Amino acid sequence: MPFAAILLTKNDDGSTAARLTQIDATQLPGAGDVTVRIDYSSLNYKDGLAITGRAPVVRNWPMVPGIDGAGEVIASSHPDWQAGDAFILNGWGVGESHMGCLAQQARLKGDWLVRRPVGMSARTAMAIGTAGYTAMLSALALQAQGVAPDAGEVLVTGASGGVGSIAVAILSGWGYRVVASTGKLDQADYLHGLGASEVIDRAALSAPGKPIQKERWAAVVDSVGSHTLVNALAQTRYGGTVTACGLAQGMDFPASVAPFILRGVRLIGIDSVMAPHATRVAAWQRLASDLDMQKLARITQEISLAEAIAAAPDILAGKVRGRLVVDCNR
Ligand code: NDP
Repeated sequence: MPFAAILLTKNDDGSTAARLTQIDATQLPGAGDVTVRIDYSSLNYKDGLAITGRAPVVRNWPMVPGIDGAGEVIASSHPDWQAGDAFILNGWGVGESHMGCLAQQARLKGDWLVRRPVGMSARTAMAIGTAGYTAMLSALALQAQGVAPDAGEVLVTGASGGVGSIAVAILSGWGYRVVASTGKLDQADYLHGLGASEVIDRAALSAPGKPIQKERWAAVVDSVGSHTLVNALAQTRYGGTVTACGLAQGMDFPASVAPFILRGVRLIGIDSVMAPHATRVAAWQRLASDLDMQKLARITQEISLAEAIAAAPDILAGKVRGRLVVDCNR
């Protein structure tokens, strides 16, 4: 039976064409031991890169984009998964080198799947999505480094984006005093509503700055990279911790070693794509137990598969607030 999917193909000039079409199971890759129905996917920054072709994240053609998905198993030859099981998929190269989840079906590896926490719907799982799961990995990394809620202010950059919005919600929910850095100052009420104590203009962080600056942050969750990450490090207090997961401003890192060797600042890299299974399960359990669902509802907008194509340039332009959850059945 054919099903709906976004399909990416390469034009003769090397650019990417994206269209909503019907494909069938024979077009899904052989590598995979679980066939799934995808009820919801989401639009992450990386999906924006894949759909627009703005960066070479797609490594096999044609490709179905979609780095995350949630739904139910249709058929499985993997010992841990049976028809009817509820799953979440994040990363592992899905939507990059392996056909992804912006479709009504996918064939995936059982080893990649995480059991959806009891009581969490597919829609909620994808409202959180890879961005929210990465926000939780970042927040757990701060905890693992011993950053306590009374340590001082925690800066969240790219605060109105997917990772940023959910990081603000998680950390404020855990009792941290969160300062949200954003380019969308008109979204200050939204960020205060998620739990930010203060909202600052990202322009204060995004230009080249001195290698060591006045100490302010006990910790930082950064999804922006480039000068923003460098300035955040330069303003981090003695012994503080900074997590880095993203590159919304840039992939460059024009830094000095001063914060590390003069203030003992720790920089922790966060990767969601190849994270071990146990790390994923722990993060999803904490999302299920700790994330305020009323805040998540404010963070989320729902779109259709076709609308995901149109929204791809917007997410790269930083125009999207919060998370875009994709209903794969419309
Ligand atoms: P979003 O587009 O939802 O959020 C990014 C936010 O960054 C924007 O909303 C904007 O927030 C800010 N921003 C955008 N452009 C700029 C700019 N030029 N300079 C400074 N700030 C900017 O993306 P996601 O939250 O989904 O992802 C954020 C980043 O994290 C991406 O680079 C993504 O690839 C990465 N990521 C990495 C993962 C990993 O495993 N390491 C997993 C998930 C995401 P505001 O307007 O509030 O400033």
